[in-house]
Amino acid sequence: MGSFEFKKKFGQNFLSDEALLTQIAKISGIMSDDVVVEIGAGKGALTKVLSRFAKKVYSFEIDKDLFLFLENEFANTNVQFVFEDIMNYSDEKLNKLVGGKFKLVANLPYYVTSPIITRFLKNKNMESLTVMVQEEVADRIIAKPKTKDYGVLTVICQMYGEPQKALRVGREYFTPVPKVDSAVVKIDRKNSEFASHEKFISFVKQAFAMRRKKLSTNLACQNISKAEIEKFLLSIGHSEESRAEELSLNEFKSLFELIYDKKL
Ligand code: SAM
Repeated sequence: MGSFEFKKKFGQNFLSDEALLTQIAKISGIMSDDVVVEIGAGKGALTKVLSRFAKKVYSFEIDKDLFLFLENEFANTNVQFVFEDIMNYSDEKLNKLVGGKFKLVANLPYYVTSPIITRFLKNKNMESLTVMVQEEVADRIIAKPKTKDYGVLTVICQMYGEPQKALRVGREYFTPVPKVDSAVVKIDRKNSEFASHEKFISFVKQAFAMRRKKLSTNLACQNISKAEIEKFLLSIGHSEESRAEELSLNEFKSLFELIYDKKL
């Protein structure tokens, strides 16, 4: 393509190493009858490899400057581009477009990593998500309780899936070279029985809202009093002073159920 200016605001750090791109496709486990959704085609380096492995690839790209190049490069292939901001493209529209189960594979634009992961984990049609993220984000996704990395993203990713940090990728693999290293994370989605995902997610955000404050302070609201939360914490062997980062996934689940089962 002619001269192309990388747009920092879109998180454009492109890949080109064939071996790495093939490794990402292999980690994703996509098979010849799989449908793949990619977020951020860029110049199509990953798209091309994914198209070799999958039955069909739907690839989203926000930057319309890439339109002519991509449409030309992938004419008459199993790739369909959607030149839209994925954040403005509803799940309803996406599910209709794809028409069934899909696997998400992407070298994600860093500025929307968490919202994209959180959103797609709630989508029952998504079977797994294999994404390149900044390494510190990967470490947060797989973190254990009582560590500094354990937070909102950890609880959501582990509640809705089984994450693994599959591959560390040095910054030198990207153009332009970013300031930090990255990693490929794979999350197999598992069904979670919460009636309201939105309520659970906002509960987790609230729990971690002020990390240094006690959980009972962060969560006390019209649904539950501070004293009731303290009683719960004591009943599961924690102190009433406990902070969100000390709770295991199961404990988060029990506390959530306690608050919402009361149906106050
Ligand atoms: N897949 C390519 C690669 O690996 O070389 C590009 C990856 S680059 C990290 C992220 C891509 O996502 C960029 O091309 C950027 O323009 C695109 N992008 C950024 N925000 C987006 C959004 N909200 N919706 C769709 N695409 C987006």
